[in-house]
Amino acid sequence: MDTPTARFRDPRSTVYDFLDLVLVHCPGCAGAARVVRVPGDEGPGGRRPFATRRLVCGGCGASRKCDGTRLTFPRGAAGPVTDPYFGRPLWLRAETRHGTLWAYNLDHLDLIRRFVAASLRERAPWYDTGQKMTLVARLPVWVKRAGNRGEVLRALDRMHAGVPVERAGAPVQAGGA
Ligand SMILES: [Zn+2]
Repeated sequence: MDTPTARFRDPRSTVYDFLDLVLVHCPGCAGAARVVRVPGDEGPGGRRPFATRRLVCGGCGASRKCDGTRLTFPRGAAGPVTDPYFGRPLWLRAETRHGTLWAYNLDHLDLIRRFVAASLRERAPWYDTGQKMTLVARLPVWVKRAGNRGEVLRALDRMHAGVPVERAGAPVQAGGA
């Protein structure tokens, strides 16, 4: 049997699969705010990334709304370090000697971590994914380099540890929805 840490099979996720919850720096306080898809809004034609979003902060009560029709993904080697709806800096980011690690939410972070920790990585076959580059395929080369594994894992763990726990006791996570 495969040990889950040794083998990684690309689940073919793209960044669009992680946009139902984005953790950002709150515009109103120093805490973490959540950018969430408004429940019930499935987006035009069922395209959830383009559904209405709400920014909410449990710390200061900040609340903002944004229709999801104009997404902005900053370009550059570091990739998006802001959320595509409100342009707020991502909560989950860490600088390393090689570049910036970032994730929209804990599910996203965990996917990257499983990939980096794995010694055997299976690519999604090109005929499976079509033209769509998977999230894992898009990771920068320095993230994939075995020699950087320890450093990258430590940075990912720091990011994970920096996520505040919700008052209800549940970690801030998108869940299966
Ligand atoms: Zn706040």
